[in-house]
Amino acid sequence: MSAITALFGEPTPAPDGSEVARALRQAASERILIMDGAMGTEIQTLGLTEEHFRGERFQGCECHLQGNNDLLTLTQPAAIEDIHYRYALAGADILETNTFSSTTIAQADYGMEDAVYELNRDGARLARRAGLRAQDKDGRRRFVAGALGPTNRTASISPDVNNPGYRAVSFDDLRLAYGQQLRGLIDGGTDIVLIETIFDTLNAKAAVFATLEVFAERGITLPVMISGTITDLSGRTLSGQTPTAFWYSLRHARPFSIGLNCALGANAMRPHLSELSGVADTLICAYPNAGLPNEFGAYDESPDEMAAQIAGFARDGLVNIVGGCCGSTPAHIKAIAEAVVGHVPRPGLQTPGLDTNTQARL
Ligand SMILES: [Zn+2]
Repeated sequence: MSAITALFGEPTPAPDGSEVARALRQAASERILIMDGAMGTEIQTLGLTEEHFRGERFQGCECHLQGNNDLLTLTQPAAIEDIHYRYALAGADILETNTFSSTTIAQADYGMEDAVYELNRDGARLARRAGLRAQDKDGRRRFVAGALGPTNRTASISPDVNNPGYRAVSFDDLRLAYGQQLRGLIDGGTDIVLIETIFDTLNAKAAVFATLEVFAERGITLPVMISGTITDLSGRTLSGQTPTAFWYSLRHARPFSIGLNCALGANAMRPHLSELSGVADTLICAYPNAGLPNEFGAYDESPDEMAAQIAGFARDGLVNIVGGCCGSTPAHIKAIAEAVVGHVPRPGLQTPGLDTNTQARL
């Protein structure tokens, strides 16, 4: 035994993501997994003022920060951790970090580009700590999903109707911003990479590219979840894809799951989810809004109403992972978790004909 080994023990390999992938795969083969619900709705109930958003750190800042929910990770961390913890106790297996807008591109609206690394690192730490506290209480492992949002710019659509060739953001701008975001999330200990609320598939492709780059740089591979959003009744994403086209555009990422979130509520999501479930050879994830927004921009669907619709997804074998998006609360997640207990996960974990790499990821 060398002197170094005697002092520090046998060297152990740095975590490469394989343990998380195995544990998640195992859990998903046993039951339908539960994602948490909306962060924004819960933050709204706290009635936070500009002073709260600034916290001590940004007290004298020449800026307007109210509404920058991600910044609360740094200025009101206890409040954000408490929301994660309440979702974990409500039954969530997967806790989404409060990092939906934590890219330099989205934070430019608030002049907070310099805080992006910390927003992501600490965002993952808060979710992790809440998950560990919940695990201490009930013995069940929680997984942290580092959320990469779509940003507020589209790479394949012009925001200027008079100049259809114009783009407010390029693939490389997005790739670099997502890469920076992901390094923070990984340093904070995220288990999963969640590319979500995709309305422009080209933005998502930049996120996938950045993810694979950072995985190579770090020598790790974490499970990747991908979730699109279909915002109108045409049944297409904003960049014009049907659910089938959306899947084939992103299948090369070999995601742990593909799915839909946000948009119009569970009933409106159902036909699109059904289509996706019919074509995708990976796990299916669905976390809709709590119904349609009303005239005040709030969501009216009760926990029982929402849970009944999602139980329908489970009963019909469409899903492996379910949760809630805008308007959902811990009460919604609790009702959803209870409603899907006993339903078997969507079959297809061992789909014949898949290549071995894809099979290994399922
Ligand atoms: Zn939403």
